[in-house]
Amino acid sequence: METAEIRRRWLAYFEARGHTVVPSASLIYDDPNLLFVNAGMVPFKPYFLGEQQPTWDRATSVQKCVRTGDIEEVGKTSRHGTFFQMNGNFSFGDYFKEGAIDFAWGLLTTSQADGGYGLDPELLWPTVFRDDDEAYALWRDRIGVPEARIVRRDEEDNYWSMGVPGPGGPSSEIFYDRGARYGAAGGPAVDEDRFMEIWNLVFMQDELSAFRTKSDFDIRGPLPRRNIDTGMGLERMASVLQGKDNLYEIDEVYPVLAKAAEMTGRTYGAKSGHAATSSHPDDVHLRVVADHIRSSLMLIGDGVTPGNEGRGYVLRRMLRRAVRAMRLLGYRDHALPQLLPVSKDRMKASYPELETDFARISQIAYAEEDAFRRTLDAGTTILDTAVTKAKKQPSPQLSGDAAFQLHDTYGFPIDLTMEMAAEQGVQVDEAGFRFLMQEQRDRAKADAKAKKSGHADVGVWTELLSLGRTDWQAYEHLSVEASVVG
Ligand code: ATP
Ligand code: MG
Ligand code: MG
Ligand code: MG
Repeated sequence: METAEIRRRWLAYFEARGHTVVPSASLIYDDPNLLFVNAGMVPFKPYFLGEQQPTWDRATSVQKCVRTGDIEEVGKTSRHGTFFQMNGNFSFGDYFKEGAIDFAWGLLTTSQADGGYGLDPELLWPTVFRDDDEAYALWRDRIGVPEARIVRRDEEDNYWSMGVPGPGGPSSEIFYDRGARYGAAGGPAVDEDRFMEIWNLVFMQDELSAFRTKSDFDIRGPLPRRNIDTGMGLERMASVLQGKDNLYEIDEVYPVLAKAAEMTGRTYGAKSGHAATSSHPDDVHLRVVADHIRSSLMLIGDGVTPGNEGRGYVLRRMLRRAVRAMRLLGYRDHALPQLLPVSKDRMKASYPELETDFARISQIAYAEEDAFRRTLDAGTTILDTAVTKAKKQPSPQLSGDAAFQLHDTYGFPIDLTMEMAAEQGVQVDEAGFRFLMQEQRDRAKADAKAKKSGHADVGVWTELLSLGRTDWQAYEHLSVEASVVG
């Protein structure tokens, strides 16, 4: 079943059950805690917080999401993309646990001939929060799932909150057993690759007060109005229904991977005999290309442009990682003009604006590749020399000095230096690098102070400020990725 059809069935199913279809919000959403929308509920937050009153009590959507926290997982696990779509159904003071569980089970197990997804009920494993006897009983008695397949889990996995006082509640997740080929038996507590999480149902019922940690808090009492927030990974469902081993092989993503393989003369999975679970660098690179090209397309489509800070830096990093993965596969020519149109052609059925806006989108992407090519050409030789030198030491380490020079002169962000050095088995003295960066910042400050009576050189200032912020890690925590749902 094509991804577009899975999406269509989702919306039709919930619309037929009284839900208003709400279009996806932009990835860039006005929320100070988020770099990007990372869950279907984000645009509905004001309703869940009681700040605004919705005009409907049931809604459904297919929301574009980006999780920068998952970037390192890409290509390595089978189930994490940086861009993905979260299908959601929402109840604002209307149906609660029983309704949410009935709807989810109905859509998952209704036969494909009757409009559902037709999954085998025996392969579905629901989890519930440890103390949630109500949800447990619904799964066991109402739905008829054997106790052996209902798993109770703790706060960490099955209690949703925003980490601050406000609404919260237990969740119930549905895992799909992909079979022995993917790992050990025993359920999601044993192996989350074999048992893949596909759908998360959040039962907002509690008013939370004091937080000691994210999973240690007080429950003040029941919420005046109980809500439902669910999220199902569209790409994960597509991988199941298309019989694919991972997200990079589904219809919306794979053509880019295939194109990259063709361009580089590689055969996906050739080195391992089993592409899907292969961790051979060639296969990982191909998956990274497929994922990052699509994410970049969607980000530029929603108005992000490459830059040295925040959202722009996330985009820059993804475009550059894709280009570099192509280089590592031996392709040295301009890659994006061949890859980006392939992704656009796969995504335009669901997002027609990508087609009409493609001149602008592609121009931004291609310009970034040009800039990166210049940076790489200049810096790679320097880096390789430094790595060769480091390798001659008894405990090989690239000096903070070398990393600083690469940053300062060639615009190599520290994460790129670290990645490229690591590929040759060399660590970087990151502390040494940071020390030199701080020294540079302090010097700039002192200079600015000295100049205060005269006129400050604003150009240098902004340049230094932006250089100081090319640190990827610094943005991880801004994006509250951990779990907006679940
Ligand atoms: P996981 O534990 O596998 O990382 P999660 O618990 O972080 O998933 P939720 O926050 O509960 O995920 O999001 C709801 C649903 O969205 C998940 O059940 C899954 O189907 C999907 N999903 C989450 N993260 C991703 C991702 N990086 N790529 C694709 N789908 C995802
Ligand atoms: Mg999870
Ligand atoms: Mg996750
Ligand atoms: Mg979850």
